[in-house]
Amino acid sequence: MRQELQKTEKLNVISQLAASVAHEIRNPMTSVRGFMQLLQREPLTREQKRYIDVSIDELDRAQEIINQYLALAKPQTNENEIINFTELIHKTIDIMHSYSVLNNIQITHQIEDSLKIKGSRIEIQQVLINLIKNAIEAIQSEGVIRIMAKMNDNQTITVQVEDNGIGMSIKQINRLGSPYYSTKEKGTGLGLTVCFQIIKQMGGKIKIASEPGKGTCFTITFIT
Ligand code: ADP
Ligand code: MG
Repeated sequence: MRQELQKTEKLNVISQLAASVAHEIRNPMTSVRGFMQLLQREPLTREQKRYIDVSIDELDRAQEIINQYLALAKPQTNENEIINFTELIHKTIDIMHSYSVLNNIQITHQIEDSLKIKGSRIEIQQVLINLIKNAIEAIQSEGVIRIMAKMNDNQTITVQVEDNGIGMSIKQINRLGSPYYSTKEKGTGLGLTVCFQIIKQMGGKIKIASEPGKGTCFTITFIT
C-alpha cells in the first residue's frame, strides 16, 4: 500500500515536471513563431518564403505534440463542472470552421438544444477537436462532415462525428488509440490516444464504424 502510494506520488511528480517543462518551452516557441511571421513581411525570394512556411508548420506541429502530451501527462483532477454541451459543440465547430473551409469541407450538424454534461470543458473540447480534425484530414478533396448530438432515453448523451473520407480497414481500426500510430506524414498519433483516455476517465464509451473509401463514423456515449 505504502509502495503503491509512493509510486503514484512519483508519477504525479513526473507529470507535473513534464507539464511545467512543456509550458516553459511554449513561450520561446511562440516568440520564434512571431519573428518568423515578421520575417515573412520582408522582401524574400520564393525559396526563402518556403523555408519560413515550413519552419512555421514544424513549430505548429511541435506545439501540437506538446499540447497532446500535456493532456496525457496531466494528473487526474476530477474536474466535474456541469457544462452546456450544446454550446460547447457549436463553439468547437466554429473553431474548426477555418480549417474545414481551407480544405473545401462542409460541416453540417444536428445538435439537440440544452444538452448538459458533467466533466472538464477543456478535455471534452479536446476530444471534439481531435475527432473533427481527423475527419477533415481523412477527406482528400471535397467532402462533408456530419456532427450529431442527442440525449438518449437512458439519460446518456450520444455524439457522432461522421465523414465521407478515406475510411479505415479493420486492421487499422484495431490499432487506433495506441500512441504514435499514425498513417499521416506529419501525424503525431497522439490525438486518439488522448481522446480514448479522456472518454475512459469520464466513464464514456467510443465506437468506430468505418469502411475504406466510404468514410468513418465515431460514436461517443457520455454518461450525464
Ligand atoms: P494523427 O491524426 O496525428 O495521425 P490520431 O491519433 O488522431 O493521430 O489518429 C491516428 C490514425 O487514425 C490516423 O493517422 C489515421 O490513420 C486514423 N484515423 C483517425 N481518424 C480517422 C478518420 N476519421 N478517417 C480515417 N482514418 C482516421
Ligand atoms: Mg489526429
